[in-house]
Amino acid sequence: MKRTTDGGLPAIREKEALALVTEMMAVPGKSCEEGLIATHIRKRLKAIGIPDAAVSVDAVHKQSPYGGTQGNVIVKLPGTIKAPRRLLMSHIDTVPLCVGCKPVKKGERIVSKDPKTALGADNRAGASVLLNTLIEIQRQKLPHPPLTIFWPVQEEIGLVGARYVSLSKLGSPKLCYNWDGGDPNAATIGATGGYDIDIWIHGIASHAGAHPEAGVSAAAVAGIAIADLVKNGWHGLVVKGNKTGTSNIGIVQGGDATNVVLPELKIAAEARSHDPIFRKQIMEAMRAAFEKAVTEVKSVTGATAKLVFEADLKYESFKLDENEPAVKSALAAIEAIGMPASTRITNGGLDANWLSARGLPTVTLGCGQENAHTVDEALHIEKFLAACRIGLLLATGAV
Ligand SMILES: [Zn+2]
Repeated sequence: MKRTTDGGLPAIREKEALALVTEMMAVPGKSCEEGLIATHIRKRLKAIGIPDAAVSVDAVHKQSPYGGTQGNVIVKLPGTIKAPRRLLMSHIDTVPLCVGCKPVKKGERIVSKDPKTALGADNRAGASVLLNTLIEIQRQKLPHPPLTIFWPVQEEIGLVGARYVSLSKLGSPKLCYNWDGGDPNAATIGATGGYDIDIWIHGIASHAGAHPEAGVSAAAVAGIAIADLVKNGWHGLVVKGNKTGTSNIGIVQGGDATNVVLPELKIAAEARSHDPIFRKQIMEAMRAAFEKAVTEVKSVTGATAKLVFEADLKYESFKLDENEPAVKSALAAIEAIGMPASTRITNGGLDANWLSARGLPTVTLGCGQENAHTVDEALHIEKFLAACRIGLLLATGAV
């Protein structure tokens, strides 16, 4: 382990780190509208002497199916020590519920003063870990390997910034760390993969009292398909032999009158599994159930509904080896600040899914978030500060 000149590990200034995250959480920036927070970060970078030439903003929002106004912010610094490049990343968008929040300290936590908003600790806490790390490196003139600091946009709506970032802009990092989540000492080294599925059933409208037989009910088609999935074990928890996954019909929308045979239904669903082949099988079973159901509902003239079934792989699964350098160094950094380190696999999607699937093995660490996406959201101060300490150790290559 490399030490600073006085023999200790590099330290952070707690008050400043806390002021930074408080300020960052107050800046609005829901997905697709990250302009203000990106500007805020760039201002702070300038203030600590990061040259403009080291900062780039891409146009990833132009590739986004959701649109948006802001690209990813990326800082690339040459190393002052010779070692493989390290990447630190953390998304800068929040869920819409956070807009307007007023962060205040309450005991061991920071919470939103307005009971109607969330806090935005997800993920301004992570974004602040990165910024604080750069602030400390500059202030203490700490030696460091080549660094890429990556603030992706549009994580909450589909991991867009990480999915579409041009890898050439990241400078071939060998060790990658992502901050998002709660416990600073749990390293997430794997996650499931999932499809987002959109299903449209275009039936035929008719008067439900006078000529119901002339219509084709989209509700009847959906009912048969969903019953089929449930009966055959393809809905909810899906277990076939030693393969497991999940599926869910999440949204069913359609209809506006009881006296009309329901002509249109839009269904939004998902399918997840760590196993990409099985995940696809679940998705295909859903497609097959709807295709079959369409043939079973006919009008008096033999007409059937039209089905549109679209599946988008929203995030690919990954599982890192425990010997992966990013994993080993992350665990060493956690232990170096005196916390017990552990690894885990999650059933959710992370920006790390896309980077890992695209060839950059990425470990995800927590940064003190609690009850994300709810009005009870809080930032656990000690956990956030621990994440800042770990971030600085990893960025400086101290572990
Ligand atoms: Zn998040």
